[in-house]
Amino acid sequence: MPGFELFDDAEKQQINEVMEKGFTFRYNFDGMRNDVWKARELEGLICDTLKVKHAHLVSSGTNALSTALASAGIGAGDEVIVPPFTFVASVEAIVLAGAIPVFAEIDETLTLSPEGIEAVITPKTKAVNFVHMCGSMGHMDEIKAICDKHDLVLLEDACQATGGTYKGQALGTIGQVGALSFDSVKTISCGEGGAILTNDDTIYTHAHQYSDHGHDHIGADRGAESHPIMGTNYRISEMNAAIGVAQWKKLDRILDIQRKNKQALKNALSQYDEVAFRVIPDEAGDNAGFLSIILPSETRTREVVKALGEAGVPGVFYWYANNWHYFKNWDHIQNMTGPAKLPIELIADRPDYTQVSTPKSDDIMSRTLSMLINLSWSDEDIQMRIDAFAKVFK
Ligand SMILES: *Cc1c(COP(=O)(O)O)cnc(C)c1O
Repeated sequence: MPGFELFDDAEKQQINEVMEKGFTFRYNFDGMRNDVWKARELEGLICDTLKVKHAHLVSSGTNALSTALASAGIGAGDEVIVPPFTFVASVEAIVLAGAIPVFAEIDETLTLSPEGIEAVITPKTKAVNFVHMCGSMGHMDEIKAICDKHDLVLLEDACQATGGTYKGQALGTIGQVGALSFDSVKTISCGEGGAILTNDDTIYTHAHQYSDHGHDHIGADRGAESHPIMGTNYRISEMNAAIGVAQWKKLDRILDIQRKNKQALKNALSQYDEVAFRVIPDEAGDNAGFLSIILPSETRTREVVKALGEAGVPGVFYWYANNWHYFKNWDHIQNMTGPAKLPIELIADRPDYTQVSTPKSDDIMSRTLSMLINLSWSDEDIQMRIDAFAKVFK
């Protein structure tokens, strides 16, 4: 998955253009910048490729989630549905917005299930934070229909699925608002960065204002701009955006390599009866950053993880026991431990996060392991993995 594997002169050239301009701010200062606008350029590229009306860059995927929530009108006291298998940022963004995370079950797509979502909807539910984990999607038609029926905002976290599609539509552009991450290990790496995607003019307006202290971005004099809303600073710098421009132009190449490498491993694994693959509702739209398999039991899965480790296969993730990606392992979030009092502590009937129960997700995730698909693999690297599978699954 990591786009940094393809860093070359193109990224250096982009950074040089910013340095020669001598200016790293993304807005205004037209006289100084020799018409170099890297953030704008990358936003244009993203809109063209993903066929979305608006893309707005920010300084991280996490900030893209925060900006998306605020811009879609999700805030204090609102309930937002999230999966227990995700990255901690999903929960952080909701809690820091003053909203209430509500955990729902996933299915064999490794993403929120339609039934899981429906089971936890209450009159306070305002949004579903749908996370396209490990490069691919869930049952999006059903999920979109449930959100529409209950008037919920569908926020798609496509941070791990840049370039993935569902029935031809880019992941992150199916719901009202989406988020991408371009951090150092994502499909597109620009150092640190993220983007908000939306076809909704109001959400876009709020997003660019919110992420820049409420500035309206009208006119060429920043000091004279008005501030229709309060905001904060989640701006991306021109340096990061410049790296992103070079990286974005490699997106097709990245996806091609990932898909080819993933297919080779998948072909090799498909002969073993005990191996089931993660359900991917639209295989053609898989970003292919990971290959995820589901095994018959937790015991067997732990055995396989151990054996692959001993065989020297790197990049095997057993998320169930992994401190970054499964709710069960997040003591600080279960106890809502902040450095200071959190808004959620003012909500008397807040959920007790030490008591969250998601047995179906536990069952699936205790039997799931994922393999990172690298861009730099040689034929030998792939063969080494196939040989290791042959020993482990014989
Ligand atoms: C990486 C990631 C994020 C956060 O992105 P950053 O750019 O690192 O802040 C959010 N959600 C998911 C699913 C991610 O993988």
